Amino acid sequence: MHVIVLGAGVVGVTTAYYLAENGYTVTVVDRASDVAHGTSFANGGQLSYSFTDALAKPGFIATLPALLSGRDPASRVKLSPALLSWGMRFLAQCTSRRAATNTLDVLSLAMRSERLLDELRDKTNFDFSYRAAGKLVLLANNDQLAVARRGTELKQAHGCDVELLTREQAIAHEPALAHLQRPFVGAVFSASDEVADAQLFCRGLRDYLAASGRVTFAFDQSIENLTIDNRQVTGISGDRDLQGDAVVVCLGAWSAELLRPAGLNPHIYPVRGYSVTLPLGENPPSVSVSSLADKIVFSRLNGSMRIAGFADFADFNTANDKSRTDTLLTIAKQVAPQAADYSVENAHRWGGFRPMTPDGQPLVGATRIRNLYLNTGHGMLGWTLACASAFDVTQAILKTH
Ligand SMILES: Cc1cc2nc3c(=O)[nH]c(=O)nc-3n(C[C@H](O)[C@H](O)[C@H](O)COP(=O)(O)OP(=O)(O)OC[C@H]3O[C@@H](n4cnc5c(N)ncnc54)[C@H](O)[C@@H]3O)c2cc1C
Repeated sequence: MHVIVLGAGVVGVTTAYYLAENGYTVTVVDRASDVAHGTSFANGGQLSYSFTDALAKPGFIATLPALLSGRDPASRVKLSPALLSWGMRFLAQCTSRRAATNTLDVLSLAMRSERLLDELRDKTNFDFSYRAAGKLVLLANNDQLAVARRGTELKQAHGCDVELLTREQAIAHEPALAHLQRPFVGAVFSASDEVADAQLFCRGLRDYLAASGRVTFAFDQSIENLTIDNRQVTGISGDRDLQGDAVVVCLGAWSAELLRPAGLNPHIYPVRGYSVTLPLGENPPSVSVSSLADKIVFSRLNGSMRIAGFADFADFNTANDKSRTDTLLTIAKQVAPQAADYSVENAHRWGGFRPMTPDGQPLVGATRIRNLYLNTGHGMLGWTLACASAFDVTQAILKTH
């Protein structure tokens, strides 16, 4: 039984792992020259099992004027038909009830991912800069504190290991916070959150899978179409045509391009974010730190400081990457001047498209086209959710094949 996995990002490569574990022969196809050349290349590195809060929430509506007028430095918005169509669906999710459901559904997926990644690590045993770092989400004011208190109680009731800390308790956990230049009134701490390099993970898994003899990687192959015959997918066409018994779409932000001609619209919008990677500064935090107000995260990864964040809604536009990473650097330096060495000239800069669904939940499982499966739309949390969603899509395939 041959399964074709489309896309060699963290979601596609992890899908290949669970398929191979279950005895399938797998071909992973990607137009890039290697694994993790899309959004999995240099993300925030956070295995954010506890911080699964939906972006679509009642408070989002109040931020719209600042977003649309360009007053929020963490977001740029350029209205387009694609954004308006997606945005209407997104706004429909901004109710308290939908926000709680979406947060908890993703939390449950994330908590399963944590256990699955532990098992995968034990089994494969390769290095991907994994560290049980813990995570602190800084709360800038009493409004954020009140929202965080409700969220923390909700998550604790679902078995999640999070606690609300005062400013002093947060500094006791992570002394580097004493050197921050942004006031904060408290923090949410999750001891179980981890940090690891998604790109190194994909490379390690690539080698492990290739050595297993069950998985073949076909790089530099652009996929143009699904081959569909009598409402059943039989393969793909593009740079190379391939036949398979099942096809799994793991194309991240680009999934809609392939699915729409087949009559499926996954409603995935590309939300651009950025990262910069710098040498460590005088007082780098060891725990991962997120500043909610600034929409940035600091992750100590591979002996460097990875600073990631922002959310731009401007379709597939990459023209402003230099100025956006300049802004990211400026804000990071204001927030945590001693976390990284900002004086280096050749900081590694990167931008990626988060594959966002309106409800923030990934699309995982069968479609109405026989033998065609989805594992896509992981938005802000693709690295965190990769194991559980890959496991789940494999279970869906096992049911019929
Ligand atoms: C700034 C930033 C920070 C982030 N931080 C975190 C974090 O800390 N923790 C976390 O969990 N998540 C984070 N994310 C989100 C995470 O990176 C993504 O959700 C995840 O990488 C998506 O993985 P993917 O495999 O679905 O997509 P991708 O990695 O983008 O893979 C899709 C692949 O499909 C290929 N492809 C597309 N179209 C075609 C075609 N027609 N033919 C052939 N190949 C094709 C591409 O080349 C690509 O390799 C962050 C994202 C950004 C932008």
